[in-house]
Amino acid sequence: MRVLWFCIPAYGHTNPTIEVVRELVRRGHEVRYYSFEEFRERIEQTGAEFVACDAYLPAIDAREEQRLRKVSTTEMSVQSFRIVAALDPIISADIAARRPDVLVTDSACFWGKLSALKHGLPWVCSTTTFAFNRYSAKYMKNSAAEIADMVLGLPRMNREIRKLRALGYNVKSLLDIVQNKPDDNTIVYTSRTFQPCAETFGESHYCFVGPSVRDVAPREKGGRPLVYASLGTVINDRPGFYRALIEALCEEDVDLLISCGKAFDAAQLGELPQNVRVEQYVDQMDVLSCASLFVTHCGMNSASEGMWMGVPELLFPLTGEQRAVARRVSEVGAGVLLDEAVAREPARLRVAILDALADEGLAAGSARMREDLRACSGPTGAADFIEQVARGAGGYRGDSPLGTQGTVPPVPRA
Ligand code: UDP
Repeated sequence: MRVLWFCIPAYGHTNPTIEVVRELVRRGHEVRYYSFEEFRERIEQTGAEFVACDAYLPAIDAREEQRLRKVSTTEMSVQSFRIVAALDPIISADIAARRPDVLVTDSACFWGKLSALKHGLPWVCSTTTFAFNRYSAKYMKNSAAEIADMVLGLPRMNREIRKLRALGYNVKSLLDIVQNKPDDNTIVYTSRTFQPCAETFGESHYCFVGPSVRDVAPREKGGRPLVYASLGTVINDRPGFYRALIEALCEEDVDLLISCGKAFDAAQLGELPQNVRVEQYVDQMDVLSCASLFVTHCGMNSASEGMWMGVPELLFPLTGEQRAVARRVSEVGAGVLLDEAVAREPARLRVAILDALADEGLAAGSARMREDLRACSGPTGAADFIEQVARGAGGYRGDSPLGTQGTVPPVPRA
């Protein structure tokens, strides 16, 4: 089987796919993975062929860059539409030359999904967040600023959409692209238990495979509890929060490890107390294997990795998507929400952390979710599902007219 795989340049979206790709290659399938140089090594290690898209990223001006830094949905969408147009010639030529059996595309990777639809190919949506429809959308409480950004950005987005239509892409709206339709064959990297409104996602098209994590052997916990804090790899430039954490715990009988990301110079934090370490990037799974509490921004991967390792979570979400994940972690009993105001005051933050460390109900909830996630079908289930979609759809239909929606018959349960 020939597979074309597409992903955006983000660790949170790439990491969960790695073990699935490795499994497909192990089964003898040919996988060509469209990604970006930063991810070359980890993709090539799976045995897949890597295709670099870096040269097709459109040039951006200072204002656009600033909006991207603030994770503006409009700006990310506008740039994504431009990448679709820039990559159109190479992806179209590749599809014509290689005749792939199936395309697998990250749910936020417009150029993967729109290429599958344009060329009428069987495709699988790889969703590293929650599966998203009008029911689960209610979990995403966007802030007023996020809503204003989307409303004010509509004219710009529509301009880009019109350009894509001229290239043969049947795009109606942004929602049309990002929403999971009932019959879109979709891999979701979590369990049905954790997915909000799971009953609204049919069993024949939605395959909940559980988090695709690199498991690690648990390490012996040290003499005192380790509190691990990370705001992920995207919005982590929060020196105020790191300072509050350090001040909260500097005199407590715990160790604190902060992963602060690459955008921030840890030297700004000055001399650190002896029980505190700050790193730009750590091996998160390894750290979680000996942590007692995970202070997390609730990126889907981080929240899942914490639950996979059975580590209770203190939830500090910063975006609508992260708030949805945080709400769900707290609903399943594996975490407690950290209020913004509490996070600013070291004395109250200390109480919140010490309470979470001592909370037996929370420990039990985390242990329950650990078992639930580990019972999922994992990368093997995801690879089975992709094979079934490729088979069920009858392979390449290169004679489809441009803009035809690729329809795939129901897939038996993986
Ligand atoms: N990560 C890591 N070390 C770090 C920080 C993050 O290995 O120091 C990994 C983490 O394990 C997760 C990913 O980066 O797999 C972050 O994805 P997530 O969805 O949690 O958040 P994002 O970075 O996309 O906001």
